[in-house]
Amino acid sequence: MSLSPAAVVAGAYFPGPRSENETWVRGEFQAVLDQWFDWRKSLFADDPRLVGPADRLSPGRLERREILSRELAELCEALTAETPTYTPRYIGHMKAEVSLPALLGWLAAMLHNPNNTSREASKVGTVIEAEAIAMLATMVGYDPARAEGHFTSGGTVANFEAVWRARYRLDHWLSLGLHIAEKTGEPLDVFASAHMGWTRFRELWAEHGLTDAVLRRCSAAIGVPADIWRRIGRAAGRDYMGPVLLVPGNKHYSWSKAANLFGLGEESLWAVGLDADGRLDVDDLERLMRRAETEDRPVLMAVGVAGTTETGEIDPIDALHDRLEQWEADRGLHIWRHVDAAYGGFLCAILGGPDEDVLSRASASALRAIGRADSVTIDPHKLGYVPYACGAFLTRDRARYAVSAFDAPYLDRPELGDGKWSSTLEGSRSAAGAAAVWLSGRTIGFDP
Ligand SMILES: *Cc1c(COP(=O)(O)O)cnc(C)c1O
Repeated sequence: MSLSPAAVVAGAYFPGPRSENETWVRGEFQAVLDQWFDWRKSLFADDPRLVGPADRLSPGRLERREILSRELAELCEALTAETPTYTPRYIGHMKAEVSLPALLGWLAAMLHNPNNTSREASKVGTVIEAEAIAMLATMVGYDPARAEGHFTSGGTVANFEAVWRARYRLDHWLSLGLHIAEKTGEPLDVFASAHMGWTRFRELWAEHGLTDAVLRRCSAAIGVPADIWRRIGRAAGRDYMGPVLLVPGNKHYSWSKAANLFGLGEESLWAVGLDADGRLDVDDLERLMRRAETEDRPVLMAVGVAGTTETGEIDPIDALHDRLEQWEADRGLHIWRHVDAAYGGFLCAILGGPDEDVLSRASASALRAIGRADSVTIDPHKLGYVPYACGAFLTRDRARYAVSAFDAPYLDRPELGDGKWSSTLEGSRSAAGAAAVWLSGRTIGFDP
C-alpha cells in the first residue's frame, strides 16, 4: 500500500496519536541527553566534583532526590489533565500537537539555555536565530539576504514591534516637518510630512543642515508629547489630534492592546470595513485614508490580516498594496503596511506546490503579496507546530527594522558584535523557539 505524501510527513514528523513513534523518539531524546552529558564531562576535566561517588548515597541527598522524584511525578500526573490536543479527535482552535523536529530542536537548545538578547549571552543561539529568521523570510516572500527580524514570545508582541517601528519612522518624518515649519514660518502640512519617505527626509535633512539634537527637540517620542502636539497644532494652524491605526474589523485583539500601550487611545484605532466575505474592504481603507488626510491625522500603519483569528479569512493583501503603492507613486505618501500573518503565514509554504488549489485564487494571490509589506507577524507556535512561546517579527529590509536604540552598557561589548537587545521590546529571549523553527526548516521545510 502506498501512503499519500501528507501521511508520510505526518507519520515521520509527529509522535503519533497512539505513540507509534515512541521507540524512535525515545532514542532521539536519549541522543540529545547523551551529547549534553558528554559535552559537560569533556570540559574542565580537572575541576573538583560537586558530588563524589561516596556521598551520592548520603542520607540528605537521597532524601532530596526522593522528594524531587515524588514532586516531579505529581507534576507530570497533574499535566495529564490537559486537553489531549495530540489526537485527531481534537479539532481545536490554534493549539495543536507539536512536531518532532520542533520538540527536539527546542529540547536541544533548552539544555544550553542561551539568551538571545546578545551575542555574548548566546554565541550559537543568535546565529541559529538569524538562520531561522531567513527561512521564515524566504517562506513569506522576502529576500532573505535583505530581510531582518527576531523571535518574540508571540504574535501580540510581534505586532507591537511593528507599531514601535512605524512610530519611530513617522516620528522622524513629522519632527523634521515641524522643525522646518517652525524655522521658516511656513504652515506645516502634517499629513505630507508624516509620510514623506526616507529619500525626501534625507534631502530635507541636508538642505536644512539638521542634527540629531535639533530633531530630538521636535520629537514626540522623546520630548513631552503634549508639548510637541501643541507645537504641531500651532504650526499647522489647527489642533493636532495624533496618528491613527487602520486595522480591519476582523482584527485580533492585540491591536487594541497596541493602541492602548502606545498611548494612542481607542479612538485612534480606525476599523476598516469588511466585504461580504469578512475580508478587508480596500475601498473602505481608501475612504479612511482620505478622512485621515482631511483631518490631518497621520496613518501610523495600515494592517492586513492573513488568516483571521476567529474564522481564518485572508484579506486581499495584494489589493491593499496596489492601492497604497498608488498613493506612494502619485503623491509620495509612504504608509507603513503590516501583515498580521500570525495565524495564516505558514500557508505560504504550500504556494506553488501540488496542494495550492486548496486555497482560493484570491487567497493565494493575497499570500503571494505578503512579501511586499514593510513588516510581517508570524506565529510558529500556531501553524508551525512549534512549542510555545514562539512568535516572529520580520521586516523587508534592515532599514525598516531600525528603531531608536536604548543604551544598556552592560550588554554592549563592541568586540562581540551587536546583539538584538537594542531592537527588541523584550529583553531576555530564549533561543529554544528559534532552534525549533530551524530544525523544522531543515527537515520538514517551509515549502510545498
Ligand atoms: C494569535 C494571533 C495574534 C496574537 O498572537 P499570540 O501569539 O497569541 O500573542 C495576533 N494576530 C492574529 C491574527 C492571531 O491569530
